[in-house]
Amino acid sequence: MVQSIRDETTGVTPEGESVRLMIYRSFADTGRAPLRRDVAEATGLDLAATDTAYRELARLRHLVLGRTGEVVLAHPFASSNFHFSVMGAQTLWWGGCAWDAFAIPHLVPTEAGALVATTCPACRTPHAWTVTTADPPVGSQVAHFLVPTAHIWDDVVHTCSHQRIFCSESCVEAWLDATGNERGSVFDLATLWRLARGWYAGRLDTPYRRREPAEAHDYFRQVGLSGSFWGLD
Ligand SMILES: [Zn+2]
Ligand SMILES: [Zn+2]
Repeated sequence: MVQSIRDETTGVTPEGESVRLMIYRSFADTGRAPLRRDVAEATGLDLAATDTAYRELARLRHLVLGRTGEVVLAHPFASSNFHFSVMGAQTLWWGGCAWDAFAIPHLVPTEAGALVATTCPACRTPHAWTVTTADPPVGSQVAHFLVPTAHIWDDVVHTCSHQRIFCSESCVEAWLDATGNERGSVFDLATLWRLARGWYAGRLDTPYRRREPAEAHDYFRQVGLSGSFWGLD
């Protein structure tokens, strides 16, 4: 097979980029991953080339694939329960984590607001917020992210599963005690909202370029995060 020319700024082949766009737009429109044969048909690729594109996108961290090759995560979208629902006016999504759930109303242009719901990992109290693009939601709950940013991709499913919202600091402490985990980063909902606001900007457009680590660090600093957990001094 002829090696396709990769885009110098994204590292993605044209085939990979058309598959990426189809998957992301399908998640945005329907809340679900498209069928692989529908991706093949829409992009004009055969199934083997479509499979190759999925693997390329997983390697470049645009997708997380499960054991049978299915899409588990196309950040911020998930294809199964990662503890956050995001209910829009027309569409119901699974958010991949607290960060992802708060990002979906910012990313999907038709959703200026959505109801994000979850349960506290420590005490199972249900929580819900209307997340809009205008202002952070009101609430005294706190986000706790377990895995430092340098290790996000060591096991990204584990990482996303542990980016959660708790009732309070005391629920975070109770959960850390009960599970034997080390404290990660704790911050308020306004900071979570700012973190989510622009992080995935451009993902529904083409071409899309992932942030370099230095750009990510600037972004974290601008939204009010600090410390070695975020790769900042
Ligand atoms: Zn709680
Ligand atoms: Zn996530």
